[in-house]
Amino acid sequence: MTFSSLSLDLQQREADGLLRRRRTLESPQGARVRVDGEEVLSFCSNDYLGLANHPALIQAACAGAQHFGVGAGASHLVTGHSAAHQELEQKLAEFTGLPAALLFSTGYMANLGVITALLGRNDALFADKLNHASLNDAALLSRARMMRYPHADLAVLERQLASSTARRKLVVSDAVFSMDGDIAPVPELLALCEKYDAWLLLDDAHGFGVLGKTGRGVLEHCASQFTFHTSRIIYMATLGKAAGVFGAFVAGAPELIAWLVQAARSYIYTTATPPMLAAALLESLRVIAAETWRRERLAELVKLLQHGLKLQRWQLMPSETPIQPLLIGPSQEAVRVSENLRQRGILVAAIRPPTVPQGTARLRITLSAAHSVADVQRLIDALQQLEGNPDCSCM
Ligand SMILES: *Cc1c(COP(=O)(O)O)cnc(C)c1O
Repeated sequence: MTFSSLSLDLQQREADGLLRRRRTLESPQGARVRVDGEEVLSFCSNDYLGLANHPALIQAACAGAQHFGVGAGASHLVTGHSAAHQELEQKLAEFTGLPAALLFSTGYMANLGVITALLGRNDALFADKLNHASLNDAALLSRARMMRYPHADLAVLERQLASSTARRKLVVSDAVFSMDGDIAPVPELLALCEKYDAWLLLDDAHGFGVLGKTGRGVLEHCASQFTFHTSRIIYMATLGKAAGVFGAFVAGAPELIAWLVQAARSYIYTTATPPMLAAALLESLRVIAAETWRRERLAELVKLLQHGLKLQRWQLMPSETPIQPLLIGPSQEAVRVSENLRQRGILVAAIRPPTVPQGTARLRITLSAAHSVADVQRLIDALQQLEGNPDCSCM
């Protein structure tokens, strides 16, 4: 068998305008990056706090490498679990206000590990339709019955929970939805989990570091709205977005964490991440809590974009987070706007179906504390000019 059938599939994707291409970054991540030989102003990283190139984190990583070397050399259960990993797990538990935490190599692996460790054939999983792909993949791999509810539709979720006779029930939701930027109705989800005796898995990949006064994420953001019975909450967050480094963790009840060490296959059967990254992350936690100006700057930039951008057809979607999608509609139009911005030295990703529903192609604008007011104003001016430009329109 040759690979010619793959060539045909690739040609088809190309013809449909769906072929994905990678850009090559030649600089650190930041507001301004060098991409394919060109300096551009970027609004498409998840480095929300501008920590990916923070001098204190770089220094901590270097010191970590001096002390521990560059590779962990083994999985956590063999000899790869270093003092830096151990300290980071303790600090993450304290930071999130949950009893215990466990590090995973990536968010994708954390979601696979947790869901497959907790659910099997006789169990049920209830998932928001807009959840991240890793949560859906994990659900399939677990063999649990998977029920998806329309985005944030608590009435449908309640009906599904009420009619389920499964042994274990797990409600799963992005805390901040990655393509829309809106925040899940966490207090209401938790109330339903109480009522129907289910667990709640919150994927806070885009909230950790960003939400809450001290950046502790969605639980801090919602803390005033209810008291936590944290025994039901499985909190997961990633460390490669706002935290600026790499990795992920799961936090929750001590029994939950103890079980994951025994049963989460994506934890057990993989090499531990380099301890130098844990050293950098310890510094990141300190910076996240201490440098409150980063979240204040973000909030200011979000307001500037929302109040400053005056458009007719294109619309910012309702979001209070640094993910500020601009709804364009037709895919080709979104691609054209993105290309036109690129010609003006501004990088914003066009997101098209099947990543988002048909007819809702959008520019996924992400803001960072590394941006200045002038950077965001430049984006606003460019978008306002482009909306009236027939080159960009499909109408
Ligand atoms: C990015 C992301 C992940 C995956 O995290 P990685 O550490 O990049 O593997 C999981 N869930 C959500 C909602 C994400 O946005």
